[in-house]
Amino acid sequence: MPGAPTEPDLMTTQPRPVYVIGGGPGGLAAAAALRARGVRAVVVEKAPAVGASWRGHYDRLHLHTTRRLSALPGLAIPRRFGRWVSRDNVVRYLEKYAEHHELEVVTGVEVSRIDPAPDGEGWILHASGGRELAARAVVVATGFNHTPRLPDWPGQEAWPGRIAHAADYRNPTPYAGQDVLVVGVGNTGAEIAVDLADGGAARVRLAVRTAPHILRRSTAGWPAQRTGILVRHLPVPLVDRLARLVARISVPDLSAYGLPRPETGLYTRVRQGAIPVQDVGLIDAVRAGRVEPVAAVEGFDGAEVVLADGSRITPDAVIAATGYRRGLEGLVGHLGVLDERGRPTAHVPHSPAEAPGLYFTGYTNPISGMFRELARDAEKLARALSRPPRRRRSADRSVPHPPARPAPTVQP
Ligand SMILES: Cc1cc2nc3c(=O)[nH]c(=O)nc-3n(C[C@H](O)[C@H](O)[C@H](O)COP(=O)(O)OP(=O)(O)OC[C@H]3O[C@@H](n4cnc5c(N)ncnc54)[C@H](O)[C@@H]3O)c2cc1C
Repeated sequence: MPGAPTEPDLMTTQPRPVYVIGGGPGGLAAAAALRARGVRAVVVEKAPAVGASWRGHYDRLHLHTTRRLSALPGLAIPRRFGRWVSRDNVVRYLEKYAEHHELEVVTGVEVSRIDPAPDGEGWILHASGGRELAARAVVVATGFNHTPRLPDWPGQEAWPGRIAHAADYRNPTPYAGQDVLVVGVGNTGAEIAVDLADGGAARVRLAVRTAPHILRRSTAGWPAQRTGILVRHLPVPLVDRLARLVARISVPDLSAYGLPRPETGLYTRVRQGAIPVQDVGLIDAVRAGRVEPVAAVEGFDGAEVVLADGSRITPDAVIAATGYRRGLEGLVGHLGVLDERGRPTAHVPHSPAEAPGLYFTGYTNPISGMFRELARDAEKLARALSRPPRRRRSADRSVPHPPARPAPTVQP
């Protein structure tokens, strides 16, 4: 009724908001969980729309985690998207997610640096266009796969062929009829190699430094992800033994084709940062000779690619599926919150001891599925940030959020 007194709107009368940097699944989940607890959260995304990483992935990509186990808090992924959700439907889901939760998302704004607020109350975000955004707390969700990592191979500048990072690969069309070397046998390298072989490349080789663990995406309807969830808290040697057994039963021995079974256990490798490869066609392609494993790349010499076993090959193109860096140095490197690998020293719901109110989500690579962990972390974060501040104990690594204090919010 016009003129009637209204309840004060907590979402707009709150002081400085929580700023969430990154409008991918991690940032959106965090913002939604915070909003559900009455905490104002503003997502700042550098791209023109949410889900930028997924928009940029290759055409053939589907989630290898199941639809049900990949949903973010407060919105199921529609059943019609199927069990293994396609890239386009992941993007559709993320768009719908932001709309459904009525998230405040500012797009086209890149945060370049985070500093403590001069008044000691939270943080200042320095963003594109000279913006300075005052935050009560900050959630950094800029992605595990932030900056493509391209090795500095000797001789690569003089090599006459085309070298691309997997981040720029969309589909096999530009490689039709070509001899292609894919470097790196993680999930991305394995799938791109199969995509090229299916899509008309004349020859596809896959350079392997360390033989990967290969898993069936699902066995008799049971998804590998569920096993990952069940075993993730078991002792590493036990999981290694179980995985060895399962692999012997479900995955053929590919040693004769250049892909021996790894000597290091599956969970040991996961702890070192190497997620097993989910088979979406690699096993069949290798057995059929359509994808040929070769030794790791050592460098380039004229028109030749030099491999670790001393052999030399002359592909037309190289696709480097050689991973990503976190790329957090510019944003928070000066705050002493990164370890020697450039990863945050604390993960939600904890803040690094040096930086209370600064949270990081999405900087691990769990076997239980990243979407699932992002969803769980979002709930934990929202619980931590909506709790009344409590006194810090000396041995407590969990640093409570800074108390809210009325202050003008700098609008983006
Ligand atoms: C090929 C591939 C397949 C995957 N498949 C699965 C799967 O099947 N299941 C699963 O659970 N996980 C999967 N993952 C892992 C993970 O779930 C995804 O990478 C997921 O997108 C991570 O979400 P995120 O929000 O942490 O990061 P991202 O989705 O990368 O989002 C980060 C966002 O931050 C923005 N941003 C970055 N820097 C700034 C800045 N300075 N200022 C403002 N905005 C910024 C980016 O534009 C981006 O939109 C896959 C990853 C890859 C690479």
